[in-house]
Amino acid sequence: METPMTRRSALVLTGAAAGTLAAGRPRDDADLVLHSGVVWTGDATAQAVAVKGKRIVAVGSDRRVLECAGDRTRRVDLKGAFVGPGFRDQHTHLIQRALTGAAPEAYRPVWKPYDEDEAFEARRRTGQRHVDIHARGETPVDQCTHSPVTEKMKNDLLVMQEEVAKQGVSTVVEAGLRDLGALDALFQLADEGKLKVRFLVRVAWGCMEEAAKMGLRTGSGNEWVKVLGVKLYSDGWLGPRTSALRQPYSDDPYGFPRRGILFLAQERANRDVARARELGFNITTHAIGDRGLKVTLNAYEHNDVAPRDRWAVEHVQVAEDDLLERMIRRGVIASIQLSFATSDQRFAEDAIGRHRLRYAYRWRDMLRARVPMVGGSDFDIEALDPMWGLQRVVTRTEFDGTPPGGWLPDQRLDVPTALRLVTSRAAFASFEERERGTVEPGNYADLVVIKENPLTMPPDRLASATRLMTITNGTITSEGPVRYPPTA
Ligand SMILES: [Zn+2]
Ligand SMILES: [Zn+2]
Repeated sequence: METPMTRRSALVLTGAAAGTLAAGRPRDDADLVLHSGVVWTGDATAQAVAVKGKRIVAVGSDRRVLECAGDRTRRVDLKGAFVGPGFRDQHTHLIQRALTGAAPEAYRPVWKPYDEDEAFEARRRTGQRHVDIHARGETPVDQCTHSPVTEKMKNDLLVMQEEVAKQGVSTVVEAGLRDLGALDALFQLADEGKLKVRFLVRVAWGCMEEAAKMGLRTGSGNEWVKVLGVKLYSDGWLGPRTSALRQPYSDDPYGFPRRGILFLAQERANRDVARARELGFNITTHAIGDRGLKVTLNAYEHNDVAPRDRWAVEHVQVAEDDLLERMIRRGVIASIQLSFATSDQRFAEDAIGRHRLRYAYRWRDMLRARVPMVGGSDFDIEALDPMWGLQRVVTRTEFDGTPPGGWLPDQRLDVPTALRLVTSRAAFASFEERERGTVEPGNYADLVVIKENPLTMPPDRLASATRLMTITNGTITSEGPVRYPPTA
């Protein structure tokens, strides 16, 4: 099917071949062949990959894949570079940030040394906000607006996507959109053929009824913008001691409720989940503490959650075995953030004590136990760059070297496992595993090209890896080199 995007990608791709004779071009010539590299399919490795239109048409040895190349094919000699599935980020607030009119720099990762006084004060402010929201009888995702689409709004979204594409990212999930006008704007931009990043949107709970009235539900949309579902919010955060715990916090630096704040009482959680199911919205719920997680799982089970639903929980930071077992049994997906363990090491032990630490940020335990899992950044709480997240989740050491050997080092992930959290497993969590998330013929061509090989480079250098190219839906959306070394 001919759409504005395919015409645009054709322009990009034939540029390099201008002047060559197009006569006699076989109908099945690829538009683009990346060869002489390390193509990681998500499982095995190959040397080359060919793209035609929006799809991958061949993966394999240089000799075999180059057979797809004709006069008009752009050939890129990878010179040993790595090609993997385009990165996916299952938890961001990129669209919300764009609505503030942020400058390009806002989306680029910047590393700052840890400042305890500043961090302490920021956590207190966040906790106070949670206390205030709870006092009003609300959750943080109850508010919704529907702004009119403006040129400025559209431009701000384009500024954002430019930076996202540079970092090797093909697909992002918005975790709780609170302005449906932004969704209107994205649909317009998609129609105009201007999108370079795929946006999967979870509307905030407060926006769900109106979204449904607009005719939207999970799966609504197109190849560039799609409604993924709804986001609910059960408890606060661990840093401010507002995430809801079954047992009291081990310390009390701010004077907030000792077992944290539960925004979603059980009856409301049961009701909200039922309503989301009724309207056809896939559900995820923010739950950091074990009490927040328990209430969330109670509500999911109350509504007969089954593995085919692919409902998720965001964060899952304190989770004893009984809770993980319930997630496994019902196929509830743990959506974790690659940078949270290294950031939260500063306060986690003070907050929950040595004993409960055994059940915290236990990514490796969860994978071993076969909890369905997916990874994300939680931009703009953390940097978007998946390579930053990758280094942190693999080393469990912050960029300043804290702590040497890694924090709770038994929970470190290996690189292929971590990569799958932001590629194939993310595609599964978004019902796209049949055509995205791996590099194989027939799949959409969502690819990232990295100069170094993440599978073999020193893990403490991953964050500095050089992005050479990003391809999404067969379109080259960024051509590097771009790198973001984390230095102060
Ligand atoms: Zn959250
Ligand atoms: Zn978030």
